[in-house]
Amino acid sequence: MKVWKITGDSQIKLEDLGPSQVVENCVKVKVLSASLSMSDKIAYEGKFDPKLYPIVPGRCGAGIVSETDPSVKSFKRGNRVYLSSKVACNECFFCKTGRRSECAHLQTYGKDIDGVLSDFAIVPVETMYHLPDRVSDIEAVFIEHVAIAINTINTLKVERGDHFAIVGASALGLILAQVALYYQAVPVVIDNREDRLEMARELGIYYTINSAKEDVEKRVSSLTGGKKATRLAYTLDSSALSYDKVLSIVSNYGKAGFVGSDVELGKIRLDVQEMVEKSITLYGINQTTDNITSAINMLASKDVKVANFITEIPFTAVPEYLTKLKNGEDFIQLVVKGK
Ligand SMILES: [Zn+2]
Repeated sequence: MKVWKITGDSQIKLEDLGPSQVVENCVKVKVLSASLSMSDKIAYEGKFDPKLYPIVPGRCGAGIVSETDPSVKSFKRGNRVYLSSKVACNECFFCKTGRRSECAHLQTYGKDIDGVLSDFAIVPVETMYHLPDRVSDIEAVFIEHVAIAINTINTLKVERGDHFAIVGASALGLILAQVALYYQAVPVVIDNREDRLEMARELGIYYTINSAKEDVEKRVSSLTGGKKATRLAYTLDSSALSYDKVLSIVSNYGKAGFVGSDVELGKIRLDVQEMVEKSITLYGINQTTDNITSAINMLASKDVKVANFITEIPFTAVPEYLTKLKNGEDFIQLVVKGK
């Protein structure tokens, strides 16, 4: 097994672990694609707890089953699968009451434990999902984003006709806007990068606001007839609108969610007075809950399109692209093709 290992600040090496054996309830998968994302960048910047190094990056991916332990009945050799990003503990209250997605000790690949950026990976069956032909290996990397987007729509109770402001045309923001369209809400995408807004318009999102050039509050007011946005999602990897301004675009009795995971957040200043006066409800959202299967279906049916978000890179180019990420180059999503 050949694995990439981040050993410290700006240090990464390819290590050959030799042959590896499957263990109980696990499957050996030939990795066909893996994500290279924000948590990998943070690891490469040396910002993880020193105890975690060395760590294999790669939060999620797709692969083909090459070997199964005899205890495994739900997958067989040749199945194409999605490798999800989280492992539950199977021991806490939530796990024992059938709510593994709410596990109190969820661990994330590439962040808490070794990720999937390797030629082969040994993974527990409960983290794997069958992939239909209509979802490519590369597209599968977005399943988690789609599942978080569905969770956001459910948590904020976004309904038909809601003006739904989405701050940040990141992969998550652009996916969230498409899921909102699917639910017949009216997404309003806000970003300070015109190319990202152009991408939103190409995806059928007709209200976009460039926060670098326009007065966001005025635009939101005018396109909602003065009511403002009844729902808001702030994608946490965004810098499109400062936190202290964000509640100004939310309506009375609106709901606002701060959505995303594995981003470094400093202390956030929110206008609590505005929140109280307008009776706004706030949510923090960073889980997929039980929406992985629905997310796979939305990608398969092309209700969510991700083809334009992808920068595909070869397995050998991982160090080069981690350096680019560290230097602040802007990619919507890097996807590493399997070795
Ligand atoms: Zn648990």
